[in-house]
Amino acid sequence: MTVNDGDFVMPGDAIGIIEQYLLGEGTYDDEGDIKSSVLGNVKIDSNMKTISVEASAGAPGLLKIGDSVYGQITNIRNQRVNVKVDRMKDSDRPLALPYMAAINISKAKDGYLNKLTDAFRIGDIIQAKVDKITGDNIDLRTTDPEDGVVKAICTRCRGFMYTTEKENEVQCYKCNRKELREVSINYVNE
Ligand SMILES: [Zn+2]
Repeated sequence: MTVNDGDFVMPGDAIGIIEQYLLGEGTYDDEGDIKSSVLGNVKIDSNMKTISVEASAGAPGLLKIGDSVYGQITNIRNQRVNVKVDRMKDSDRPLALPYMAAINISKAKDGYLNKLTDAFRIGDIIQAKVDKITGDNIDLRTTDPEDGVVKAICTRCRGFMYTTEKENEVQCYKCNRKELREVSINYVNE
């Protein structure tokens, strides 16, 4: 794959090989592949031969209802999951600060969901829409087909997972464990 300066990448995305670049901030070496450790934009310094990943510059954005966002699952309870919202989809503007948002079990899936751990696990990257804003509280929903988990993290080994042929099933690249997720149609298989 070819990654260009300014490309938007997710944690685990391969952005180069160690023969090409020195590792900058927001990157790590995975057996010779340079991968992103954060959500952000690729920055290539051709003089220094350094590649890094950082949040893009610009005026901070404010969330409004209906906005598409990316975030990471930080906590799971019976009825709600907490999500650290890192950035808006379709916008280069970074958020002033990460927002702490939540998804209620009734807004996690278009249909019945037995338990929230069948949809999300801690560390997963999700795409979601802003459903409700009450003061500082932001509620998200993942009921649209494009919303849901775009990158799943294995609960056993913390490796990245890929989608299997079964609906809403993902499998770990490293340990082959299978788990359930509310998978977005934009799921990113490496
Ligand atoms: Zn695993």
